[in-house]
Amino acid sequence: MADSRDKASDQMKLWQQARSSQKPEPLTTGSGIPIGDKLNLQTAGPRGPLLVQDVVFTDEMAHFDRERIPERVVHAKGAGAFGYFEVTHDISRYCKAKVFEHVGKVTPVAARFSTVAGESGSADTVRDPRGFAVKFYTDEGNWDLTGNNTPVFFIRDAMLFPSFVHTQKRNPQTHMKDPDMVWDFFSLRPESLHQVSFLFSDRGLPDGFRHMNGYGSHTFKLVNAAGEPVYCKFHFKTDQGIKNMPIEEADRLVATNPDYAIGDLFNNIANGNFPSWTFYIQVMTFEQAENFRFNPFDLTKVWPHREYPLIPVGKMVLNRNPLNYFAEVEQIAFDPSNMPPGIEASPDKMLQGRLFSYPDTHRHRLGANYLHIPVNCPYRARVANYQRDGPMCFTDNHAGAPNYYPNSFSAPDTQPHFTETSFKVSPDVARYNSHDEDNVTQVRAFFTQVLNEEERRRLCQNMASSLKGAQLFIQKRMVENLKAVHPDYANGVQNFLNKYNAEAQKNATHVYSRPEVSAVAAASKM
Ligand code: NDP
Repeated sequence: MADSRDKASDQMKLWQQARSSQKPEPLTTGSGIPIGDKLNLQTAGPRGPLLVQDVVFTDEMAHFDRERIPERVVHAKGAGAFGYFEVTHDISRYCKAKVFEHVGKVTPVAARFSTVAGESGSADTVRDPRGFAVKFYTDEGNWDLTGNNTPVFFIRDAMLFPSFVHTQKRNPQTHMKDPDMVWDFFSLRPESLHQVSFLFSDRGLPDGFRHMNGYGSHTFKLVNAAGEPVYCKFHFKTDQGIKNMPIEEADRLVATNPDYAIGDLFNNIANGNFPSWTFYIQVMTFEQAENFRFNPFDLTKVWPHREYPLIPVGKMVLNRNPLNYFAEVEQIAFDPSNMPPGIEASPDKMLQGRLFSYPDTHRHRLGANYLHIPVNCPYRARVANYQRDGPMCFTDNHAGAPNYYPNSFSAPDTQPHFTETSFKVSPDVARYNSHDEDNVTQVRAFFTQVLNEEERRRLCQNMASSLKGAQLFIQKRMVENLKAVHPDYANGVQNFLNKYNAEAQKNATHVYSRPEVSAVAAASKM
């Protein structure tokens, strides 16, 4: 029995074995004071009350009361691992970033994979996009490629992001997941059709984290040593091969092994079966971007491979498990605005929104000095700046160096060749409505050219089995949107809906009516 246990299950035993020659360390308080008795409270008499002077108790209890930091609003449940990125093909003609400096260059990386909507205790095998975030510890600061396992996203304008996420989380009154919220939003925002179609296709249920691709998703800018920019997209293709999970197996694992994906990654790395991904870029010149038939900065669209082929760059290998989950995974903070020289932002409105949102959330979750935390620290570069103080400052706080700039005392100075590229912008400032920016052409290509007949059938069935939970008017609006993609898509989903709705009617024994007005509104009418 014991021999059949995997390395994750045997973590405690393995930890002990690794230290077998050592005696247990003396137990101490947080202040390092040795402890004599850690089993019994200090009380006035054997049945008496606790004394405040029992710091052995209060020191630990006070820390325990503060153990949780806010979980991530999205991507709360995840697994992390460490490894390296190695350049296999020279792309210096496009990009001067040190990470791509020459063939053979190796850069340490940290990766975190996650589900999106569930809380940190939720099951791994649920239909959801998967986060695919990689931190490259480069010689010129950390580069975070904070992507997903899909090349597109549900929305193209970051203004909608908080509302979109609310629809994926819990109903404000019932605290339950609510298909009305989900499908109301999707059907009101047809730019979500592409990502929704990926989500309900087989790839919406990947078998763990090793068997999925990763995509930087956004359009970025690469700049070479001569200062010439191009636009680019980043792709990680799994070397393990794509493997998805049948729904029945996913459902079984939700009940029997909700940490399936975390365990799969941990055990494979612990057994020396290191997962790897081949890394590619797509490149588009500024001139091509001007003439591209789609908006090249629209996160609901891909760049077709035939026109913008994948260019191989390197390989990412994950070969180390975290030594401590909280220290290295819960506290790891990815931030798309971490871009070293040679990699810059594009006008992608979702990217622009995330450039603000991610560091903002880290300052809330982890504190203003979150970049001092070892896993987030750009340890291959030297940090020299005028940021000072703040809670939990773990460094020497730049000791006696001047804390203002400019100054006359040889303190850190700028290097003008690292200035970002300049670009022309002369349009009117306005709130541009992008609701109707061709929401269907690429979805049609996906439905008709990428999926085979059986995959199309499963897509329709998967979608209907979720959509059936929404009210009829929402179902109808969603099917109307699908009609614009392809009549077979709409008919396929509608046929399954007819079946499910008829079954639901047959099985309905009780009809619960929703309260039409909130308690507050009702009270105000009294
Ligand atoms: P290609 O035929 O060159 O590429 C199709 C892509 O689809 C491949 O990258 C393939 O990934 C991926 N794919 C295959 N099956 C699925 C699935 N069930 N779910 C999601 N992706 C899948 O076509 P184009 O580049 O012209 O794109 C056509 C359509 O393919 C797009 O409209 C888009 O919907 C989809 N797509 C395109 C991508 C891109 O970056 N161009 C990326 C992913 C999807 P793999 O090779 O790893 O099997």
